[in-house]
Amino acid sequence: MGSIETLKLKAELLVEGVRASTEALEGVGIVYKEQNHGLFGWDFEDHVGTRLPDDFVLPGGTIVQFRQNSRSPFKVRKSDKGLTLFKLEEELCEVSWLPRPAFYEEKTRGGNHMVKIGQIGGEDCLFFCYQNYCSYFARKQQCLFCNLVSTCDTYDSVLRKKEVREIGEVAGAAFNEGLASHLLLTGGCFNHRREIDLVREIMASVSERTGLDRIPGTILPSPAVGVDDVLAYYDSGIQAIGFSLEIWDEAMYKAICPGKSSAVSREDFLRGIRTAVEVFGEGNVYGVFVMGIEPRKTFLEGVREITALGANIVPFVWSPNPGSMLEGHRAPTGEWYLETVLEAAEIVYEAKIPSGTENHCYKCDGNSLLHDASRLKGVE
Ligand code: SF4
Repeated sequence: MGSIETLKLKAELLVEGVRASTEALEGVGIVYKEQNHGLFGWDFEDHVGTRLPDDFVLPGGTIVQFRQNSRSPFKVRKSDKGLTLFKLEEELCEVSWLPRPAFYEEKTRGGNHMVKIGQIGGEDCLFFCYQNYCSYFARKQQCLFCNLVSTCDTYDSVLRKKEVREIGEVAGAAFNEGLASHLLLTGGCFNHRREIDLVREIMASVSERTGLDRIPGTILPSPAVGVDDVLAYYDSGIQAIGFSLEIWDEAMYKAICPGKSSAVSREDFLRGIRTAVEVFGEGNVYGVFVMGIEPRKTFLEGVREITALGANIVPFVWSPNPGSMLEGHRAPTGEWYLETVLEAAEIVYEAKIPSGTENHCYKCDGNSLLHDASRLKGVE
């Protein structure tokens, strides 16, 4: 179980970033899991040619994303005990990198490196972005916090479009290795029907390779609003679904997500969530936010409204990352995140939403604080 001190530390590490000594980085990409930039880049600065850990473990099992910032006061150093986290010269606690999955070394039958197709997030979440593409960039209408295109261009580390058969192969390897407990599946912006058909094929391939009828995990599709669309996702075999609303305040949503808001209104999202709760069941639906751009008050209004519908929340801690329009800005303080997420956790707890942790849990999530805050209330 985590502690309030660890939650505060995680918030500060996500807001301030972290760095590591050369000695501390030994073994990253060999025995420890490295970043592979499966979708977005979350570091404060690009690091082409340097292997960095994807995430690391704080006391109590709290997982925190490694966000490289060479000016951060936080630094991981090698010590007699293993790895120790410092804030300037103050020794804070022992930490550990996560083991590198064995399938990262394997290739598919088609000859592609499996790690270029799927990656493990945190300790146990197998992540696939079936297509690293978003049409809003071409129209210069991308979300202001998003760096999908520059991440692909900078690192060129994953296949932009993945074959269904190969996704199944990677899922089989990851689940059989015993590392993956959950799946997280997303794509760029798609034509509705094409995406539904593709997800159906992917899930059939994953089922065949893992031997699982229903897959514990979450699909984050382009917003589907019709009952038929939601039913089709449910029938594909995935256990949970989420919709990325990003920002609750409507005026800010339009300003921060110009392309997306012109295609999908807040009411469209709410309709989709209501339908999804009916189909997938309470707790098996997520409203996904970027936390830290809009005021606390409107963010918490969103949490209240979404949980009142029977859905859970995933609020990612905003990183003003390179390549996004907001590069170089600053997120709110760690204190702000701590206080806000504690209030959010209280709202979710009071709404008595089933935890849904069989589909997405605190071990999946190095870049959100809500699971950790809920753990403080005994929700694992
Ligand atoms: S919809 Fe927004 S957040 Fe999603 S990929 Fe496109 S620009 Fe990025």
